[in-house]
Amino acid sequence: MATPILDGKAMSSQIRVELKEGVSAFARKAGRAPGLATILVGENPASRTYVANKIKACAEIGMESIHHPLPASTSMADLLVVMKKLNADPKVDGILLQLPLPGNVDSTPALEMMDPAKDADGLHPYNLGQLFEYKNWAEMASGKSPLSCTPHGVIQILQRSKIPVSGQHAVVLGRSKLVGKPVAMMLQALDATVTMCHSQTMDLEAVCREGDILVAAIGRPRFVKASMVKEGAVVIDVGINRDKDGKLCGDVDFENVKDKTAAITPVPGGVGPMTITMLLHNTLQLAQKRAK
Ligand code: NAP
Repeated sequence: MATPILDGKAMSSQIRVELKEGVSAFARKAGRAPGLATILVGENPASRTYVANKIKACAEIGMESIHHPLPASTSMADLLVVMKKLNADPKVDGILLQLPLPGNVDSTPALEMMDPAKDADGLHPYNLGQLFEYKNWAEMASGKSPLSCTPHGVIQILQRSKIPVSGQHAVVLGRSKLVGKPVAMMLQALDATVTMCHSQTMDLEAVCREGDILVAAIGRPRFVKASMVKEGAVVIDVGINRDKDGKLCGDVDFENVKDKTAAITPVPGGVGPMTITMLLHNTLQLAQKRAK
């Protein structure tokens, strides 16, 4: 039997239909659509594409977007002025500061300027810290604080595909603030037993092979080989890379790994579309909370 491919694009379309209904209901009640403000500092081509896709996704579900392109020379003080304005704007429910920022602006203090109640990406230090507070997934997903989008997208893929997580050994490859750490916290909240790996992990192959669920988030093209994957594991590939021929690929050697797995996400069309969908989800949830 062919390995099930976890289609993040199809799943994402389905969730966006649900979100569109939520956006219409909000607009009927509030007399305005939920609003997402995007801030792009500099001209990074990948970041420009990401922001354009986010703005397009907002329009598709009837959400308002307000874009703030800023020059690469923007200082922390300039950014603070924009952030203060957006924090105070009643039409702005969510703010997205596109990362990475140019070298002259540090991302952590930049994110700290944002009102955590408008943090559409779930990356404000307060909201990331909240992940330590929650006792279980029900609490974590209750909307008390926005969840960071890519890790939440990973969890949605597992849940909507009815993949058992409780009691499973989940191995997370990567320990970034953006993906590895929050996804590990979320898997733990779902009662998985979690191992986190990184560049200093000894005998990485053997550790990865222990995973009933393997989440790869390291940014190395096709790094995860079949020898690193347990027979029948579920593999979630977060990586978005270009190989030496310029072809888009994940962190997993998909063609050679897929037949060994119980289910696997492709790149593109796996976690990527879910990330934007979770951004829309957060923005709607923040708008609903502010309207209460
Ligand atoms: P990052 O900040 O560069 O972190 C990479 C992590 O991987 C680090 O913890 C690093 O370990 C670990 N690592 C690197 N090389 C390794 C190796 N050879 N063996 C074991 N561990 C290794 O990257 P990130 O922001 O988490 O992103 C990871 C990937 O996900 C990238 O391809 C990125 O483009 C992609 N991504 C996709 C989405 C999406 O929407 N699908 C969103 C965000 C990111 P150390 O901590 O020891 O250095």
